[in-house]
Amino acid sequence: MTTDPTRHLRPPADCSVATGIRDAVAEIAVVGDLVVSTTGLLEAAVTHCLHERPLRVRVDLHAVRFMDCAALTTLLECRARTRAQGALLTVIHPSPAVTRLLDPATRLALGVGVGVGVGQDRTRLLECLACAALTEHVPGETTVGPDGSVLVQWWRCTRCPEGNAAG
Ligand SMILES: [Zn+2]
Repeated sequence: MTTDPTRHLRPPADCSVATGIRDAVAEIAVVGDLVVSTTGLLEAAVTHCLHERPLRVRVDLHAVRFMDCAALTTLLECRARTRAQGALLTVIHPSPAVTRLLDPATRLALGVGVGVGVGQDRTRLLECLACAALTEHVPGETTVGPDGSVLVQWWRCTRCPEGNAAG
């Protein structure tokens, strides 16, 4: 009997991971479904980046269509590994599929927009790519779905003209 375990798995969910590193900042962009069957891609990307000894690792999740709890666990493990090497891992531009999973403590741990809330002060500390820093953002345009519900709230950087982050 053959025991090739991969033959018994369903085709992996559709996911691709791209990495780049510049000026000690590694950026990992995930596109597709970040789920239990694809978290290995993220882990491999983080391992690859850590070989380059970055100071920051930014995981861009704006194109993640679906994320499950296993992926969240992996993300937090990757953050711990990054921290053990003296670097900081943060999530940038989380898609709604990602933010849905994040409780306030996890948001804080992953550096995702702090100070959120209806009726509170409407600014958020978000990562601005243009500024390459956490900056104050104010609500900007919204992307609205066919039924009129807000799909994406964009946040505008207050320190530069081009910073636009999905909150
Ligand atoms: Zn900016």
